[in-house]
Amino acid sequence: MRIVMFALLALLISGCGKNSVESNGGAAESQQTFKWKLVTTWPKNYPGLGTAPENFANKVAAMSGGRLQIKVFGAGQLVPAFEVFDAVSQGTAEMGHGAAYYWTGKSKATGFFTSVPFGLNAQEMNGWLHYGGGLELWRELYEPFNLVPFAGGSTGVQMAGWFNREINSIADIKGLKMRIPGLGGDVITRAGGISVTMPGGELYTSMQTGVIDATEWVGPYNDLAFGFHQVAKYYYYPGWHEPGPILELIVNKDALATLPADLQAIVEGAARAVNQDMLDEYTARNNTALVELIDTHGVDVRKLPDDVIVELRRLSQEVLEELSADSDIALRIADSVKAFQKQATAYHGISEEAYYEARKQ
Ligand code: CA
Repeated sequence: MRIVMFALLALLISGCGKNSVESNGGAAESQQTFKWKLVTTWPKNYPGLGTAPENFANKVAAMSGGRLQIKVFGAGQLVPAFEVFDAVSQGTAEMGHGAAYYWTGKSKATGFFTSVPFGLNAQEMNGWLHYGGGLELWRELYEPFNLVPFAGGSTGVQMAGWFNREINSIADIKGLKMRIPGLGGDVITRAGGISVTMPGGELYTSMQTGVIDATEWVGPYNDLAFGFHQVAKYYYYPGWHEPGPILELIVNKDALATLPADLQAIVEGAARAVNQDMLDEYTARNNTALVELIDTHGVDVRKLPDDVIVELRRLSQEVLEELSADSDIALRIADSVKAFQKQATAYHGISEEAYYEARKQ
């Protein structure tokens, strides 16, 4: 009995000793505070897109007990909107929030990670990224730039955009100067339009002064905030070009590696939470904003004609085929997303789609 007691006591003491060493180490580690900068492509605190990185920073601060403090900068405050990628890649800021398709100048394949025209919706994009191999491919694509991407929000299906020209046939796209980034922009170019990419903060004035004839942005909630109804005649749907765009949180790889494991897990967890939270917010707020646009501001909401949609879909296939031939990784991403979409379409045909139909009855 005494031997057993002694052995237990010894075990307890050695256990305590071990624990105390670990907790001392942990305490020393936990006292270290990290102060990061997060640059964004959005105006500071812009609804949804701009408040998501603020929410992210607040969550990280709360979850880490203040050990990781992240200061969020709006577009132009530390770097211009379209220098976010380079700033985080080079370590000027540890993190960034924006959209992957702003960086097609770095690699054409970045377009896949915002949205593919006639591609996956928000639910499917999240499925592909987190359970279908998408995130691994995204990380492989960003690896040479010293960046680690995380999904950083989704707006759900967007609107086709604001037009100062009626779109009655595909011929009406010819010569149309439209702000539409990424693969959607390539499709508009192929249809004879002139696609341009510019940050959100410049769109109202560009529409007002006629620098552009049309712009896509997001959907009712965000478009109302920018006041596009004051400078555009028609509001077209559906957002064929961005059926489920994913925003990105990017982290400088070296900066991420300097964090202790628990803080790395907090960054990942907070990103995942913010990614879902943004979709929840848009799902709730687009509805009320649409009512306000129509009832208060008398917005002319129009559906793109079926034959225009058919032609845009055909041109989207051409754009995707051309992009797939651009590089080995572009081909692998295209194959992955195509296979996922095939399966998602089959199942969602008898689940989501069938349910939407059933609900109409
Ligand atoms: Ca958009």
